[in-house]
Amino acid sequence: MNPSVLPHALMPITPRPQQIFVRGAGARLFDEAGRSYLDWVQGWAVNALGHAPAVIAAALAQQAGVLINPGPAFYNQPALDLAAWLVAHSGFDQVFFASSGAEANEGAIKLARKWGQLHKGGAHEIITFSNGFHGRTLATMAATGKPGWDTLFAPAMPGFAKAIYNDLASVRALIGSQTVAVMLEPVQGEAGVIPATPEFMQGLRALCDELGLLLIVDEVQTGCGRSGPLFAHSAYGIAPDIMTLGKGIGGGVPLSALLAREAVCCFEYGDQGGTYCGNPLMCAAGLAVMQTIGAPGFLDHAKAMGEKLATGLRALSTQFCLGEVRGSGMLWALVLGSDVAPEIVTRAREAGLLLNAPRPNLLRFMPALNSSPAEIEEGLALLGRVLAEVL
Ligand SMILES: *Cc1c(COP(=O)(O)O)cnc(C)c1O
Repeated sequence: MNPSVLPHALMPITPRPQQIFVRGAGARLFDEAGRSYLDWVQGWAVNALGHAPAVIAAALAQQAGVLINPGPAFYNQPALDLAAWLVAHSGFDQVFFASSGAEANEGAIKLARKWGQLHKGGAHEIITFSNGFHGRTLATMAATGKPGWDTLFAPAMPGFAKAIYNDLASVRALIGSQTVAVMLEPVQGEAGVIPATPEFMQGLRALCDELGLLLIVDEVQTGCGRSGPLFAHSAYGIAPDIMTLGKGIGGGVPLSALLAREAVCCFEYGDQGGTYCGNPLMCAAGLAVMQTIGAPGFLDHAKAMGEKLATGLRALSTQFCLGEVRGSGMLWALVLGSDVAPEIVTRAREAGLLLNAPRPNLLRFMPALNSSPAEIEEGLALLGRVLAEVL
């Protein structure tokens, strides 16, 4: 690293390797020394189409030359087009755009509380799950079930009871007169790629129907093809009341969305907004991403690459006596059995492969959805070499 640019001016919010990344192309990132890395982090499952895809670059360039920001109190065509696309390809009727997953989830929480005020006598409590993750704002931290996060910036926002994931009885036990909604990830991503069981997801839908509660799915990580289908909840054959999208929808630019069924869309003028909400620059990028993901054959290819990756991970797990391989689509975890994940991440980076370890005993894999078979094979070969070194 050039000593004149030592990064003391950046708040140290996470340990960062010393490389400065200057360029990305598809599955690859390049540092300032020109070294190439196969990237299986992709901005934490954000770059659905890989680095600097031509469709996003073209959409941004075209839109930037025409209209960047008329303001959220005026219509713009890209926001209208992207909302129409999302409504046409989901079971939801209306969309609110924001810039981050946490912001979309804040909107979902506000919408549920407003609905509770209007239709459930002021019920406002939302049941969320231990080890769930919903973001880093104060409300979404309270909704998050990461150990220790309830006291990290005390006092925590009230109104989020924590049930046990995949345990319907634990949800039922928490429901009271103030309960308005249940909110969950179809696959708990940060917890280590733990999918909801079909019985659990379908049981939650039935329970919410029975008691008049809203079912909110946080698809910030699982949505937009990452877990296989366009939206993860469709694999369960259920229709949620509210869904949030983030990460993949922008393909790398800050864009997120809150979607809801018409009966739940109860914001009145002034209840919700934001300076950048629905800005045409991000929506143009989002439309380019979603049209690409939605094109015939795209998700079939992603699923095939995900199966190829999982097959390779299972072989490595057998070879090195490791644990479970779990996930779907292009979102997988390999359980290691001991806390060697940070060392594997470091060694893999030195070997030219970028990996993520959300827990010290497991690796999470989030390649670009449009990865090629050769890229999957290359990453598996690199991972095999690193595992042989470390274990
Ligand atoms: C990443 C993530 C978030 C937060 O998204 P940000 O864009 O970082 O605010 C929320 N929910 C889930 C499930 C996520 O994976």
